[in-house]
Amino acid sequence: MTYPPAEPPTEGTLDPDDWAGLRAQGHRMLDDMFDYLATLRERPVWQPAPAELRAAFRAPLPRAPSSLEAAHNRFMREILPYAVGNAHPGFMGWVHGGGTAVGMLAETLAAGLNANLGGRNQVPVEVERQITRWMRELFGFPDAASGLFVTGTSMANLIGVLVARAAALGRPVRRAGVAAEPTRLTAYTSACAHTCVAQAMDISGLGSDALRLIPVDDDFRMDVDALRAAIAADRRAGLRPFLIAGTAGTVDVGAVDPLDTLADIAADEGLWFHVDGAFGALAMLSPELAPLLAGIERADSIAFDFHKWGQVPYDAGFILVRDGETHRAAFDASAAYLSRETRGMAADSPWPCDYGPDLSRGFRALKTWFTLTVYGADRLGAAIARTCAIARHLARRVQAEPALELLAPVALNIVCFRYRGTGDAAADDRLNAAILLAVQESGLAAPSSTRVRGSLAIRAAIVNHRTAPVDVDRLCDAVLRTGAALAATAALEPHPIP
Ligand SMILES: *Cc1c(COP(=O)(O)O)cnc(C)c1O
Repeated sequence: MTYPPAEPPTEGTLDPDDWAGLRAQGHRMLDDMFDYLATLRERPVWQPAPAELRAAFRAPLPRAPSSLEAAHNRFMREILPYAVGNAHPGFMGWVHGGGTAVGMLAETLAAGLNANLGGRNQVPVEVERQITRWMRELFGFPDAASGLFVTGTSMANLIGVLVARAAALGRPVRRAGVAAEPTRLTAYTSACAHTCVAQAMDISGLGSDALRLIPVDDDFRMDVDALRAAIAADRRAGLRPFLIAGTAGTVDVGAVDPLDTLADIAADEGLWFHVDGAFGALAMLSPELAPLLAGIERADSIAFDFHKWGQVPYDAGFILVRDGETHRAAFDASAAYLSRETRGMAADSPWPCDYGPDLSRGFRALKTWFTLTVYGADRLGAAIARTCAIARHLARRVQAEPALELLAPVALNIVCFRYRGTGDAAADDRLNAAILLAVQESGLAAPSSTRVRGSLAIRAAIVNHRTAPVDVDRLCDAVLRTGAALAATAALEPHPIP
């Protein structure tokens, strides 16, 4: 085979005339990000952006070009300092992963390759299949299990619901729609489940009213007797139960539903058993934590994120389905331009696009493959276990401080606590909401809030591998200091509670 000589014309293309100049600028950009990651502790976790700075992002569409250097300088000055800060070790708000330099580099390679992972005969698709194989191994799923990268667990839960719907109603539902069904399908999840489970019921046409929110026990785990009773009541009412969605790591307190019992009930009742393991599922990487998830290996589908505890840069959600054929039957389609061959570029079917709604798809698998390959499962598991140890350290400190109160047991990596006020519920909520905002604005630490049995809680979710005991101590000190100062100012302004 002969190829044309390498003197490519760049006239009219978007490639540079001066690759050497681009190379030097590219190295400066990479160096700036290494510096950012290496010196995170010297920065505030988060800071509000000045209004003038935001205003500059309302400029009209640029018609003329400008230099890469100028755009990069703006990024460094006006974008990087004003992100939410989840790479920072002091970030404990919400369940966000910290990312890694390895993931960043892999993402750069993926962008350079610009592979479209919808399908076709290419090794990038094989890399995604490799991740599926590894996840089968991790979760004890059979060889027939399928997997797919998606944006996040919100989308993975939606796919789980859609596969469960197709499993219950068969292929015809894809044409006739649920409106043609004489009997309404009902699903079951805990009152502490993520709201995206209800949203998945809504989007799938089943309706969020058909999702029963089962009460939880003292440890915030789904009450299995209440679950059995709800299923029986719906059957008596002529409805058709089809799905139990358990949670491995609830978003507010980190509770794990009794997955093994949920699997028993699903088997007895003939229901699909889905697990929302958004962050918690990857506890399977830690031999110390994996037993807490006993029963997850019996799920029909598991939704989780590599971008949370897995530390892969955003976004990298994943759905694993025990029966790959049922999964494919919920999404596959035929279109002439997607026809399959046994040779050439249209070979190697089935393709990722047969397992979900996306046709064009990025190479999320690459940054995940690099992360798992470079760090290894054991080291990632140890980093996950360490976040739980740090959460226990924070919980012990909270319990040792008379001014603080622990609001929920610490099952994994989330600590919900509050500053003890006067005992007046509304005033104490206002006090803790004010403490939360002051601590966030201090840039010292970034906790978030939730409600635990009606009370506003300061919530520290330790997800970032960079977070150390010193960071949770700093949070604790800041809450104590701010709480004492605010409690002393008698007239606390009523604050909107987040
Ligand atoms: C974060 C989270 C979700 C949503 O996942 P995304 O990746 O943000 O879409 C769902 N469920 C739980 C338990 C979560 O923690």
